[in-house]
Amino acid sequence: DHAVAVFTSGGDAPGMNAVVRSVVRCGIHHARDVFAVYEGYQGLVDGAGKIRKMEWTDVQMMIYKGGTVIGSARCKEFREREGRLAACKHLVDRGITNIICCGGDGSLTGANIFKLEWASLLEELRSSGRVTDAQAQKYANINIIGCVGSIDNDMVYDGTLTIGTDTALHRIVDAIDAVQSTASSHQRTFVLEIMGRHCGYLAWAAGVATGADYIFIPEAPSKHDDWESVLCAKLDHQRKRGARLCTVLVAEGAIDKFGKPIKTEYVRQVIIDRLGHDTRSTILGHVQRGGYASAYDRFLGSVSGALAVERLLRTKPEDASTIVGVKGYSVAFNPLVETIEATQMVAKHTEQLDFEAAIQARGKDFKRHWAIQ
Ligand code: ATP
Repeated sequence: DHAVAVFTSGGDAPGMNAVVRSVVRCGIHHARDVFAVYEGYQGLVDGAGKIRKMEWTDVQMMIYKGGTVIGSARCKEFREREGRLAACKHLVDRGITNIICCGGDGSLTGANIFKLEWASLLEELRSSGRVTDAQAQKYANINIIGCVGSIDNDMVYDGTLTIGTDTALHRIVDAIDAVQSTASSHQRTFVLEIMGRHCGYLAWAAGVATGADYIFIPEAPSKHDDWESVLCAKLDHQRKRGARLCTVLVAEGAIDKFGKPIKTEYVRQVIIDRLGHDTRSTILGHVQRGGYASAYDRFLGSVSGALAVERLLRTKPEDASTIVGVKGYSVAFNPLVETIEATQMVAKHTEQLDFEAAIQARGKDFKRHWAIQ
């Protein structure tokens, strides 16, 4: 009979609202009290009006919306034990021991730390009289499930896409299509910067989907010392055989073979200086995150939220925390700790230019293999 809480944390991603709606309704369906925590971990730390009991109709008309209606925040206090102590107290006061966290690897790391620390937090609250012996006994364990909300698609797990990636990809492709019609009218070259932090998935997938001429992603830097010449030879060849427009996509984390960042503006200048193309650059920025959630992200968020609740209600105290992944028509529950560790290892190896090690750390997750090969 313990209550369920859901929150969104870290960068917002389209499809997070579908998760919240689905958790609320699935929890109510199972006769549980369901709370939405507003402003991510900040809401857990602050308590009071930021942890609100939800009714069925409170989540109507939100499945299609982008961003996150219940808010997200970066919260310094939750990184400290004092903040987590306050969060523990606020949850116990409301009888909440089932938590669904929708966020990126940072948010899920925080959730895992919270779970591991729960017993000692509770003991500190009990011994200082802030929770009763009965409460400490009843709420001795906390269950956590993660749903990965991130447009970057940077989680190493058994799941095809993270929640938000598909919408971002649609936005990017729409923007490139729009830019291409103006570029071809004037025989221009466009250099577009694509989000994704250390993950090149969005740039790579958008490049394939729009037939870009050149794509820079962090996972596969050019093998050439002088990548500028390779890029220009390619663009020159395209133009000479009649292409009226050229597009170059630069992932925000793109690097050269020495690990030096490749900046959009620099790429533009190289093309102007060496080829004389009429070259413009566009940083797509937050346009990529905005707007309505795509059909797939609504589906992904809804299925992930519902399955997270189903799983939580079957979780035993000794069970490890999991992350929900959806792959095709099946669902996989990935171990939370190992998944986060693998994700952070891939980021670290990529940063250190050790791509073989990054591939090893990816294990059976082939998303970035495709990009690299
Ligand atoms: P995105 O992928 O969009 O950056 P994220 O979930 O990785 O999302 P972070 O800013 O890394 O975003 O984390 C969000 C919040 O999670 C932090 O502001 C903090 O409150 C909490 N958090 C992250 N790491 C930890 C940690 N090691 N311990 C406790 N809390 C953490």
